[in-house]
Parts: sequence; C-alpha cells; structure tokens
Amino acid sequence: MVKVKKIPMRQCIACRNQKPKRELVRIVRNNQGQLLFDQKGKLPGRGAYLCVSADCLRKAVKENLFARHLDIKPDAALLAQLENLIGDNPD
Ligand SMILES: [Zn+2]
Repeated sequence: MVKVKKIPMRQCIACRNQKPKRELVRIVRNNQGQLLFDQKGKLPGRGAYLCVSADCLRKAVKENLFARHLDIKPDAALLAQLENLIGDNPD
C-alpha cells in the first residue's frame, strides 16, 4: 500500500479560505459546553478553525461566527487569549 502524504486542510470560519490545519488555530466546544482554544489540535469536541490573522479574528468576533459555528459565544478570557496569540500585529 502506497501512503500518500496529504496535508489536512481546514476552512477558516472568517475568510473561508482553505488552509493547512497547522496554520490555523482551533477553537473547540467541549462536552461541558465551554469554548476553549485548542493549542494542540487534539481536544475532543466540535471545532472551528481560524487563521492566525487579526482580520479574521476581528471578523469572527464582529459577525458572531463562533456562535454560528459552535452555538456558543467565546468568553472574554478566551478572546483575550486569542487576541494575544493572533492580534498582535497592528494594521
Ligand atoms: Zn481566515
């Protein structure tokens, strides 16, 4: 059996571009109904992906995309964590 190396692609919820999974951040809703930033991409639960981009983060927050995809809004702590990780480049 020949193994084909395939890069897993995921779609950003904000810009809808397909990108390699490792270039995106994963947000997960766990089975306690909490939203978590999934640093290693391995947490169980329903996930949504976002570019490492301040624009995409802003758009996701503004248009409530986390709630649309995961049925729950991120809390302030999670947003702060994401902003820390992503939103450090000024326009
Ligand atoms: Zn994006």
